[in-house]
Amino acid sequence: MTKKVKNIILKSSIFLMSLILIVSAFDKMTAYGDQNEKVAYITFDDGPSKYTSQIIDTLDKNNVKGTFFMVNDNMIVFKDVVKRMNSEGHGTGFHGVTHDIKELYKNEYSAIEEFRTCNRTFYNITGETSRLVRIPFGSKPYMLESIYKKFIDEGFLVWDWTIDTEDWKSSEDQIVSNILYYAREKDEIVILLHENQRTVDCLDNIITILKERGYEIKPITEDLKPKNFW
Ligand SMILES: [Zn+2]
Repeated sequence: MTKKVKNIILKSSIFLMSLILIVSAFDKMTAYGDQNEKVAYITFDDGPSKYTSQIIDTLDKNNVKGTFFMVNDNMIVFKDVVKRMNSEGHGTGFHGVTHDIKELYKNEYSAIEEFRTCNRTFYNITGETSRLVRIPFGSKPYMLESIYKKFIDEGFLVWDWTIDTEDWKSSEDQIVSNILYYAREKDEIVILLHENQRTVDCLDNIITILKERGYEIKPITEDLKPKNFW
């Protein structure tokens, strides 16, 4: 190999190396930019309840909004808190009437009828309607496709979750570490919590940690494409 050829090879390699460095630096910049687009939706099932006011107070204190999937009869008992969350811009959706798999799927129309009932109750309380729903125990595996299609035809937006905190069997620390574990490398997360004392106690911590990790916490609204198991 002549000295000239060696030189050309050396210069080409240096050029290529520089190019790779520039491209990877640009890639990192883009990834960093994406961090600002990380979104967390914090959702609360099975309420409203005696805990809802405290949950809203904690959300308020942190200047964020959550989303509540509510059971029909609980809305009737806690009308004022339903009015409050709705007027203050939290996401409001429905979680059925019976919260019982056998009743929910008793026949082909029982599930959709439960959610129509929720919508009527919500309208009587707030004068508004909602298309947001969360099926008890998730839309899969229990819900038949024919029934799921009825919800879509009706205009309901079926939201499942991407992170189950397993709050019914976890300590406060476990709930927080479950969220962090399942959120890794995910830019859009839907967190499932339930209305209970433990949620009240660890919510502030959850919000702080999500913010530290770069998540913007937003309510679920009807213009979003629902995240579900289908
Ligand atoms: Zn539930």
